[in-house]
Amino acid sequence: MDRRTFITRAGLVSAAAATGTACSSRTAPATLKVSKSNTRFGNPLPTEAQLAADGSLSKTAGIRTMYTRCFTCNNMCGLRVRIDEASDTVLKVGGNPYCEVNSGSPFPLAMPVRDSYAALAGNQGLENRATTCGKGASGVNCVDDPRRVTQVLKRAGKRGEGKWVSISYEQALKEILDGGDLFGEGQVDGLRAIRQLDKPAVPGQPEFGSATNRLFATFNEEDTLRGSLYARFMRQSYGTANLVTKHAYCGAPTGIGFGIGLNPGLEPGLSDIDWDSVEYALFLGTAPGASGASLNRLGRGLADARTDRQLKYTCVDPLLRTTVANDTRGQWLPIKPGRDSAFAFALIQIMLSEGWFDAEFLSIPNSEVAKAKGEVNRANACHLVVMDPAHPGDRHLAKASDFGLGGDEPLVVSNGQLLSANQAQQGDLFTDASFTDINGQPVRLAASLALLKQEADRTSLSDYAAACGIDEAAIRQVAKDLSHHGRRACVATNTGANSGDAIIMGWLIATLNTLIGAHDAKGGAIYGNGAYWGFEGNYNLGGFDGEVDTSAVINVCRAGAYEGSTEYQQKLARGDNPYPASDMWHNLVPGYAAGNAAEALTAHTNGNPYSAKALINWRSNALYSASSINHKVEQTLADPARLPLFVAIDCYMNETNRYADYFIPDRVMFEEYAADRMWGAFNLGVVAGAPLVTPRTVKNAAGQHVCMEQFVIDLAMAMSLPGFGKGAIAAADGHKVDLLTFEDWHARYLANVAAQCSALPVVSDDDRQWSALDYSMTPLRPRLSETEAAQVEALLSRGGYYESGERYDGDFINGGGGKLLQIYNADMAQLRHCHSGEFYPGTPVYQPNRFWNGDTWEQHWPASDYPLLFSSYKPTLRSNYSAAFDRCAELTPTNFVYLHSDTASALGLKNGDTVRVVSGNGTPAEGVVQADSGVAKGAVCVSHTFGHKQAYGADTRSIDGQVLEGLSHRGGGTAVNQMVPHDPTRPGEVSMLNDYYAGTNCRHGIPVRIEKVDV
Ligand code: SF4
Repeated sequence: MDRRTFITRAGLVSAAAATGTACSSRTAPATLKVSKSNTRFGNPLPTEAQLAADGSLSKTAGIRTMYTRCFTCNNMCGLRVRIDEASDTVLKVGGNPYCEVNSGSPFPLAMPVRDSYAALAGNQGLENRATTCGKGASGVNCVDDPRRVTQVLKRAGKRGEGKWVSISYEQALKEILDGGDLFGEGQVDGLRAIRQLDKPAVPGQPEFGSATNRLFATFNEEDTLRGSLYARFMRQSYGTANLVTKHAYCGAPTGIGFGIGLNPGLEPGLSDIDWDSVEYALFLGTAPGASGASLNRLGRGLADARTDRQLKYTCVDPLLRTTVANDTRGQWLPIKPGRDSAFAFALIQIMLSEGWFDAEFLSIPNSEVAKAKGEVNRANACHLVVMDPAHPGDRHLAKASDFGLGGDEPLVVSNGQLLSANQAQQGDLFTDASFTDINGQPVRLAASLALLKQEADRTSLSDYAAACGIDEAAIRQVAKDLSHHGRRACVATNTGANSGDAIIMGWLIATLNTLIGAHDAKGGAIYGNGAYWGFEGNYNLGGFDGEVDTSAVINVCRAGAYEGSTEYQQKLARGDNPYPASDMWHNLVPGYAAGNAAEALTAHTNGNPYSAKALINWRSNALYSASSINHKVEQTLADPARLPLFVAIDCYMNETNRYADYFIPDRVMFEEYAADRMWGAFNLGVVAGAPLVTPRTVKNAAGQHVCMEQFVIDLAMAMSLPGFGKGAIAAADGHKVDLLTFEDWHARYLANVAAQCSALPVVSDDDRQWSALDYSMTPLRPRLSETEAAQVEALLSRGGYYESGERYDGDFINGGGGKLLQIYNADMAQLRHCHSGEFYPGTPVYQPNRFWNGDTWEQHWPASDYPLLFSSYKPTLRSNYSAAFDRCAELTPTNFVYLHSDTASALGLKNGDTVRVVSGNGTPAEGVVQADSGVAKGAVCVSHTFGHKQAYGADTRSIDGQVLEGLSHRGGGTAVNQMVPHDPTRPGEVSMLNDYYAGTNCRHGIPVRIEKVDV
């Protein structure tokens, strides 16, 4: 049986597992302390409520139900959580029916909470079902997981040995602050000594700011509420510029590339699919329901679209995923890993040569014509670009004034005549000719779309087909499908095309949607309405008197333009060619691409531009999660001589924080406040929650549960840093409030969020009971005015705030539009590569993967040595955090090295063989072969998020001499990110493998070979 057939037959099981409805005696919690004795068959969990025959609903005694959000992956779905009050235990996790991403058709906020439970019961429950995916539903054991870290720990052996002693919170705080000979290994500077705002980080290079930057801090920025306090401490109070996160090895490459095609300037962006009306969808670098936005929303959207509207869709993916099922109009096109841009350029070539694009839309020269035609967006496809190095406007859009035809507006050719875009009714799309400027000089001007076509035509269709491994006829059919559904078609992507040309891929996908006019169209590429943040409003949480301003400082990742550096200026002053730079700079959307935790640790290892003196690692695991991070970085973190102080804040041990000197225990998602955006939501909204159970972390001497917030507050107070303490927060009415505790911050943040929500429900006493608001509001109410408390209560009563309204306005998304879509992005075209000094392209370009110095990957890793191409992917039941959820480990205990049967045969391999995946210079990864026809030939596909041998409870540790044996089932499978090789052309002991333009991390299309391991 091949996997496609198997998947179809197993479809019901897969769907159940993915949406958390599977039931198995193996996976049922064995030792739940449920207070209510239960006499029903099978000892089911107590329900949330009972529905009587007369339709009346009553709460189950002893059961509390509350809402929060899921932090198991970064999608932030809403959760409905059932809690046994007597034991203070989470029993079950479901979806929030008010939240769009849990159901696709959420209940209105005006619906009383009791009624929402009634609507989830009985036959109507199926239609109204609000789901969590299998990962989210498996999180029940996270609170009382015996492998969770709940004590304050200090290492008792070498770093990473797993030997700890428990110490008081106060001792940890003092030692971290004051330093000393903390481990009998010599003097260690504490945080007080490291904070040197008056000394440079790098003498003679002021752009790198102060020596305070030698405190590096990591976090997961997706946690906006808690992260806002952490960032306040790190950046504004303590004053380090090195607060870094995971974007560059996650979604930043795609988002940056996509954003280049959306508007002038360089801002990230990414669309979703209008699931309610789409007719044809092309998934490139993602698979619906497998990665990207909320699995719950995607799963519902895909299921409804393919059953109700016979959606036709194509997944271009090296691996057949579960969502392409037989007997649907779904199609899988196996592509060679990392060759997505060849496929996308082939589509563009066909579409432009066949006229399969929206010429009328693309020919619009200005906003007035767009408005007259009823368009909400327009593009710069017909605008002319100066293609003359001798002209001062080279690589910019030509200005009408330079040709005596107007002001700063662009030019077009209309009916053979050069015109100001403002004067034209239409612009020709393929102009490329010489025109005379106001000085009488001939200047080559080319339409943006002409430049794109020239680039697409530079390579033959047969070469594109050979490069991507998809035959010409299949590519042609996709081009036809994409362009023959009017605007009810969309190309969707996520992070699955992050190769050495990830930026180009994101840009190409935005461009394909532009060619068919799909942006903001009904059935096309849509943009969520966003979320409310809590930085401003009733309280100023964004700034404070005396804050440190690091906004102009270049961080350790070199987030900025090389041309602004001391090095560049000194070379120029000496009359030298300033290129190449001595190391990589990140000039393309640097705030997103280069706040990179893995790049920061790499820079630390190289000591270039400087090393950290201390690292605080909160909820971050760069050593596992970042592709191409080198094992030598790990060795550096393990060496106190190279990293003197390492503090971890987390609820689990992971591959990175296990090297810490001190471990501050933290709250799990059911013990924290939240107010976040949801990935995959269309409507404006925010998913919110408050602690649902008593935190299990130890208490400090003041009786507060230890957690990240209390730790940074106490650090700041002890150092008398600005922004914390008595009167640290300014209210809008002029009074000041304190920031002394965990709740002081969260109450005000939630108040700011709630105050912006214009249609909060009125909370009744009945709602209060059904949402357990007395439990969540007790710590908040004393910190809020009556009005604020009522608003926050309303916010929490529905687990957030979710607006809804008319989805469409005619053929477009209601409220969408306003984009000037960039076939040619002149801002991109003005940046230079810091090694070559060459300008970046203004349209997407088709190039082989290149290292920082311009060498091709093939030059260093020839196909003769590395004949296969590697790709990793996200499985549906795994995220980093779900590695600690026993149900996920039981359902998916391991991963495999997937190969096509023909590839395996040619290598003399069979299913079950142990192999080593070997790359140019990464650390080989060992795994078990699974070969079938559901993989592209020549591809090696291994899922991410397995192989946690030393993390999430799979690690063996001793605390105060008591050994806690590792749970081997949590560490099944193989981890692959350290197998991904680094760039051999970058200077230093270690480096990462990057996208050529943005310097974000690659993980697809990696040349590898497979070696059989004798076991
Ligand atoms: S998709 Fe992610 S956030 Fe949503 S329920 Fe699943 S694990 Fe939780």
